[in-house]
Amino acid sequence: MSEISELSVGVDVGGTKIAAAAISGTSVVESHERPTVLDPAAIVGEIEAAARAVIDAAPGPVGAVGVGVPSQVHFATGRVMASVNIPLQGVELRQELGARLGLPVFVDNDGNCAALAEAFLAEGGAARHLVMYTMGTGVGGGVVIDGQVFRGATGLGAELGHVVVQADGPECPGNCPNRGCMEALCSGLALERDATALGRERPDSPLGEIVASKGRVTGRDTVAAAREGDPDACALLEKLGTWLGVGVANAINTFEPERVAIGGGLSAAAEFFFDRAVEEASSRALPESLASVRIAIARGGPAAGVIGAGLLASQEYARATRDTQTETASEGVL
Ligand SMILES: [Zn+2]
Repeated sequence: MSEISELSVGVDVGGTKIAAAAISGTSVVESHERPTVLDPAAIVGEIEAAARAVIDAAPGPVGAVGVGVPSQVHFATGRVMASVNIPLQGVELRQELGARLGLPVFVDNDGNCAALAEAFLAEGGAARHLVMYTMGTGVGGGVVIDGQVFRGATGLGAELGHVVVQADGPECPGNCPNRGCMEALCSGLALERDATALGRERPDSPLGEIVASKGRVTGRDTVAAAREGDPDACALLEKLGTWLGVGVANAINTFEPERVAIGGGLSAAAEFFFDRAVEEASSRALPESLASVRIAIARGGPAAGVIGAGLLASQEYARATRDTQTETASEGVL
C-alpha cells in the first residue's frame, strides 16, 4: 500500500505539446501527450485533460500533481505572473487545476522542474547542489540547493537566462529589457540572429545559400550546417560555447554547485560547443570552487520535465502534510 500512495503526477507544458506522467520515485509509470492548444480559453482544460489521462490510468492513487510551465510563477499561489509563449498570464493555475482535479496542485517554472529532475537523476546518487541550463529557443534554468529548488522570495528568481555575460551585448530576444544576457548570446534565437547576419554578409557561403532560399537561418539550420562541416556555422556554435562558459563560471562562483547540467534542445548539438564552454568556465571560475564541480550534459532527456514536475509535487505535498501535522501537534500542546 505504501508504494502506491507514493505516486505523483507531473505535467510539462511546452510550446508544442503538453506531456503528463504518473511518477513513482524518478520512474515514469504512465504517460500521456497531447498537442498544446495556444488558446487562452482552452489551455487550462487541456492541462487538466493531460493530468486526468494519467491519473485515471495510474496503477494506484495519486497524491498530488505538479505542473511545469515556461512562465514566471508566484509559487505559493501558483499564479502565472508572466508567460510569453503560452497564454497563461494572470491565470490562477494552482487554484483552478486543484478545483478541477480535486487534488493538491503545485505549479513551477519548467526550468526549476528540469533542475530538480536532474539533481535526482545525477549519476552516483543525487547531486544536492546543482545548477541547470535549459538551452532551446531561449535559455532557461534552475538552481537546486541542498535538494530543494531555489526560487527567490516569491518564485521569480533563478532566471539564469537573463544573467548578463556581456554588458554591451545584443538586446535580449525574450521579454526582458536587458542586453548581453545569456538568452541574447546562447539561445537558438541568438544563433538565428547571428547565422542570418553572417549569411547575408557572405551570400556565397552555405549560410548565405540558406538565407537566399528561406530569408533566414534558424538555429536548427545552423546546427545542420555545422554537421555538414561548414566552418562559419561551427564558429558561431563555438562562440555560443564561449558565452555559455562565462555564464557557467558565474554560476560556479555564486552557488558552488556539485554539478552544472546543460540540457534543452540545443544540448543535442553539444559536440559543437560543450568543450569550449567547459574550457571557458574553467579559465574563469575560482579554482577552489571549480575543483569539485562536474559540468555535464543533462541526463534527464525528454522526460526530465514531467519527472521534475512529479518530484516537485511529491516534495511539496510531503512538506505541506508535515507542516499541517506540526501545526496540529502544537495546537494540541497549547
Ligand atoms: Zn534577457
